Amino acid sequence: MAKVKGLVCKECGRTYPVEPIHVCEFCFGPLEVIYDYEEIKKIISKQKIENGPLSLWRYIDLLPVENPIVGLTAGFTPLKKADKLGEVLGLKNLYIKDDSVNHPTLSFKDRVVSVAISKAKEFGFDTAACASTGNLANSVAAHCAQAGLNCFVFIPANLETQKIFGSLVFNPTVVAVEGTYDDVNRLCSEVANDMGWAFVNINIRPFYAEGSKTLAFEVVEQLGWTAPDAVVVPAASGSLYTKIWKGLKEMSKVGLIEKVRTRMFGAQAEGCSPIAQAWKEGRDFIKPVKPNTIAKSIAIGNPADGIYALQVTQESEGDWEVATDEEIIEGIKLLAQTEGIFTETAGGTTIAVLKKLVEKSLISPEETVVAYITGNGYKTLEVLEGRLCEPIRIQASLKDFKEKVLTKV
Ligand SMILES: *Cc1c(COP(=O)(O)O)cnc(C)c1O
Ligand SMILES: [Zn+2]
Repeated sequence: MAKVKGLVCKECGRTYPVEPIHVCEFCFGPLEVIYDYEEIKKIISKQKIENGPLSLWRYIDLLPVENPIVGLTAGFTPLKKADKLGEVLGLKNLYIKDDSVNHPTLSFKDRVVSVAISKAKEFGFDTAACASTGNLANSVAAHCAQAGLNCFVFIPANLETQKIFGSLVFNPTVVAVEGTYDDVNRLCSEVANDMGWAFVNINIRPFYAEGSKTLAFEVVEQLGWTAPDAVVVPAASGSLYTKIWKGLKEMSKVGLIEKVRTRMFGAQAEGCSPIAQAWKEGRDFIKPVKPNTIAKSIAIGNPADGIYALQVTQESEGDWEVATDEEIIEGIKLLAQTEGIFTETAGGTTIAVLKKLVEKSLISPEETVVAYITGNGYKTLEVLEGRLCEPIRIQASLKDFKEKVLTKV
């Protein structure tokens, strides 16, 4: 595989061949895929990408897969100019990157999973698994069904009902663990060592994480081959946030755009904000927290990529902000009622944080800003219970309609 050089330890720089491994044997640092950008530069071009498939696989030259076999429709989601929301917030060039309509399971996770499961097939695994806050489980279950792999998904037992059904329908083995995501993840690290399965976010993590870069590539292409001035990204483990930055820089490294000056803003729920807290306190390490928020899809108390996320914030001159559960609900409603996009709690966090960043003048009105909407509201309907207007109940009569409806609107 000429484009991929191998894996490299993010801590000590030791290199490894392309294998289903994720930690350095010497220092236990995480491994990351490295590419031969000089080689890629020779084969990649804007025109080649533009003529490619209408999916994330149009960027295959910058992905660690030779022959994608599942998730062939993931990615290439809309970048919507959000003028109505922009007017409310005071932004003239606001865009929504809308992964609430990603395929097949309506969250950005279909990007990472299409890459991870394609890679797991290349490695020859017959069983795939994951530790999930909900969306990952949905996507792994769907892609295993496509790929004909046995599937085990591990989730915290208290997840939203809709997200549990969203996995069960694909008939994986769903393991609901009593505890937080961090408990689930710890268990899964042990299971992964024991069973020799492809755990997409454990031993396949270096490859999985690369799929997130496509959220940067697409935005650059959709903005006419330029990088935005600022982006707002919701963070759980911090993987997506760091990989969007890696993706932006790669676009520049292979000569498709100029040097990147995008400021990277991270969004977390106040009830689970270990990365944002570390940033605000000027720490270069993460203090794990116990999550307590409605934003379950981003409730990771001990984020694996937290310290790397802090480095990206530093390098890009970005910042972090948090949103309370109330503000998250308001964010969901604001996006729905201005742009007609129904997102889940993670997207509500993005919008609430974007609002604060503008209020604090960390983003200015003329700048080109992209807000990442990473999941779909139909999966977290229960958080809106009691928080919306009720339907007006009437008999099927014109009289009732006039008396009970027209008098109220
Ligand atoms: C998983 C997830 C994220 C962020 O995940 P990272 O672990 O930070 O990569 C953001 N939004 C949604 C909806 C998710 O499911
Ligand atoms: Zn190392």
